[in-house]
Amino acid sequence: MTKDDRKHYIPDKVEYGEKHPDKFRGDVEEDGFHFCGYDYDSEEEQFKVYLHYDQLYYWKYAELSKMGKGLLDGEIWGTKCPECGDKFFPPRVNCWNLDCNLEKTEWIKLKPEGYVHTYTIAGWSGRSSLKRLPFVLAYVVVDGCKTAVANELRGIDPWNAEFEMPVKVVWADKEDRRGTITDFHFEPADDWEPSGMNPEKERMKELCEPVYEWVKSMK
Ligand SMILES: [Zn+2]
Repeated sequence: MTKDDRKHYIPDKVEYGEKHPDKFRGDVEEDGFHFCGYDYDSEEEQFKVYLHYDQLYYWKYAELSKMGKGLLDGEIWGTKCPECGDKFFPPRVNCWNLDCNLEKTEWIKLKPEGYVHTYTIAGWSGRSSLKRLPFVLAYVVVDGCKTAVANELRGIDPWNAEFEMPVKVVWADKEDRRGTITDFHFEPADDWEPSGMNPEKERMKELCEPVYEWVKSMK
């Protein structure tokens, strides 16, 4: 095969030094999503997560291992193109700019902050988050990246979410992290204050009322 320098090195063999797949956290049931553990090869920087969704499976991050392991460690790792300087989170292995000819990106530790690009208020969800309804799902641009990441925006009345509002990353407790995107959520930046109510916010608030009522009625 012709060698292509734009491709990243993928190890043929991985020796996982930290084995945790037997450390089940929580009861494994036949419905819902459960974290079972992870393997990490520090030599080759390869990260693998074991999950249970009706059946046990695992998922290798391969070239994105640094991001997955970073989540477990409470660090946000993205990538940066050495040619044009564009930053990506979620990370991209190769730059997307046509002029960069699929340049290989480099890992960069990002500041755990960003701003809301767009958002929606969820009035329905999967089983694991039903009791938190209604909540805000936001696409957030982290630390000046050119990509945005979807995650929950908490610590706010849903109708108060705003485009371009500054947010910070808030981590789950260390023992609850899984090496997945749910290891953190976003909250408004410390100095942020919502602008006052307006007709659209009033409308959103009204739409949220029956959802709150319904959640209260849940066993
Ligand atoms: Zn580039």
